[in-house]
Amino acid sequence: MEHLMSSAPHMVDVLTIGKSSEGRPLKVVKVSTGKEMGKPAIWIDGGMHGREWIAPAVALYILKQLVENQLNSNISIIQKLDWYIMPVVNPDGYEYTHVTDRFWRKSRSKTQDAEFEENRMFWDSARECAGVDLNRNWDFHWGEVGSSDNPCSPNYSGLRPFSEPETRAVSDFILDKRDQLKAYITLHSYSQMWLIPWGFTKQKVADYEDLLYLGKKAIESLSKVHGTKYTIGTSPALLYPTSGSSDDWAKGKAGIQYSYTVELRDRGTYGFLLPATQIVPTGRETFAGVRTLAKSLINNRELKKSHQGRRRPRIGVQWQQLSDS
Ligand SMILES: [Zn+2]
Repeated sequence: MEHLMSSAPHMVDVLTIGKSSEGRPLKVVKVSTGKEMGKPAIWIDGGMHGREWIAPAVALYILKQLVENQLNSNISIIQKLDWYIMPVVNPDGYEYTHVTDRFWRKSRSKTQDAEFEENRMFWDSARECAGVDLNRNWDFHWGEVGSSDNPCSPNYSGLRPFSEPETRAVSDFILDKRDQLKAYITLHSYSQMWLIPWGFTKQKVADYEDLLYLGKKAIESLSKVHGTKYTIGTSPALLYPTSGSSDDWAKGKAGIQYSYTVELRDRGTYGFLLPATQIVPTGRETFAGVRTLAKSLINNRELKKSHQGRRRPRIGVQWQQLSDS
């Protein structure tokens, strides 16, 4: 990130938006060209869960492509959009997976649960009960289905919504840019899925068809690169229900229309221990999907402009027209 900033200072800025529980800087890279302020933007984060090593790698791959590989096919998406990329939301958990426990998922904060501390003697002292599942800590239907109030659980939601410095920093930043942000993409692993909100209920979001349409276009482009098959749908339908997750919050609270959780490779053969030989192919295909999404957003925006002053057509119809043009 620092290298890209020094090699392309006109378009790359590294922003420190806060500190983790253990004091590590939380860094977001902004990629922006030209002088136009407040362009539509896309947010991509990775590494919210420590053990999902492919996610920070893919975020960095996308970043590098945007900055260094400005082929014809990439020009419009960096000229017409700003990009905010945060490769590691959970640096403490990520570090912990490198030095202590490869399968650690949560952050590394000390538990603030006084009741739990009082009763610690009743818990198995060998169990590791630090940290919060940062993807259950967001302030939208927090603490409901698919999360745990037990600090020892891998899905511990924390004492309260946004109890963690990591989720607070990211959500504050996103709220500040909410008018600009048109898409929120959070990279996780594994299962090869593009997940659409909601996670907390089986009910579909009102504009589900729009999110499905765009997501399908993205995974079609993705699969053309190496033939990798992705499925698309909601978490309750494809995996399990979740609450307090970042994609639900981005959609439900921040109001970002296109919000997706991307579960990267693979489907379980190696799981979190994805071989290094798959890092670049996963980056390459995911970038193809993200690029298609970005281009669709640009086109949609132009279409919306042309409809200004008129009654806005149903978006489903709009997308249909787009696909035919
Ligand atoms: Zn995850």
